[in-house]
Amino acid sequence: MGLITTKEMFEKAYKSGYSIGAFNISNLEQLQGVLNGAKAKNSNVIIQASMSAVKYTGPTTLVNMVINASNELGIDVALHLDHGPDMEAVKTCVEAGFSSVMFDGSHYDFEENIRLTKEIVDYAHAHGVVVEAELGVLAGTEDEVTSDVHKYTQPDEAVEFVEKTGVDSLAIAIGTSHGAFKFKGEAKLRFDILEEIQNKLPGLPIVLHGASAVDKATVAMCNEFGGDIKGASGVPVDMLRQASSMAVCKINIDTDLRLAMTGTVRKYLAENPSVFDPRKYIGAGRDAIQAVVENKIDTVLGSANSL
Ligand SMILES: [Zn+2]
Repeated sequence: MGLITTKEMFEKAYKSGYSIGAFNISNLEQLQGVLNGAKAKNSNVIIQASMSAVKYTGPTTLVNMVINASNELGIDVALHLDHGPDMEAVKTCVEAGFSSVMFDGSHYDFEENIRLTKEIVDYAHAHGVVVEAELGVLAGTEDEVTSDVHKYTQPDEAVEFVEKTGVDSLAIAIGTSHGAFKFKGEAKLRFDILEEIQNKLPGLPIVLHGASAVDKATVAMCNEFGGDIKGASGVPVDMLRQASSMAVCKINIDTDLRLAMTGTVRKYLAENPSVFDPRKYIGAGRDAIQAVVENKIDTVLGSANSL
């Protein structure tokens, strides 16, 4: 078994009203935590890595690690480049063996985003790789890019964009944001925009970025054991589940895994000061990631038994 694309899993998810979790990883234990969670729930998952994670592991190491770990568990997964900045990054990942890439041209003007995305789509499709693009701007920080304001996706622009580029899925901005500090006041997602896009582009898989829930107890655990993470807040679980039941087929989750692993490792080391075997504390972090993934599949994604 090699890596699969997201095509078939999105078709099933769209028809059945659930989403596939796309979980960011940058090391073996994060990967195993996600795969163990998927296996336990018999659920499809997408493993994704940003370009900084690809640089951290090395592209070939990352691809082989994902192929081997998923084969060992007997589950098919897609490996996706999250927020590919340019053609060079996309080529690096496609050549290494990724099955899916995102090109994020959302900070370019509309025409330029179309032109660049179309180039990426032509290249990726020629190599059997699917493409996610982004329209609209999310607030928050992703890799090295920060934006202070939301720019909601315009439904008519989404139609023109998809027709002209031929993308396989589209990330839209309806109020989620990157990082651990998502809402100053009350959380609000623009379901009216999602619905209009869904009506104008029936069958097109929609992607939500910046969709961690930022569990208060996990943040409290980080802080209790020496962390300093203040005022974090995420997207309410019921809003995400509602989006999953609509055209949203992929929900990106990164912050929640980072918080769970960090909080758990902090707690483990604080409570076990004589332990210096990395397998013990990183293994505890791996188990914490598995628990988060299983919980997401049940409460946010609705993707159990999709394998
Ligand atoms: Zn993102």
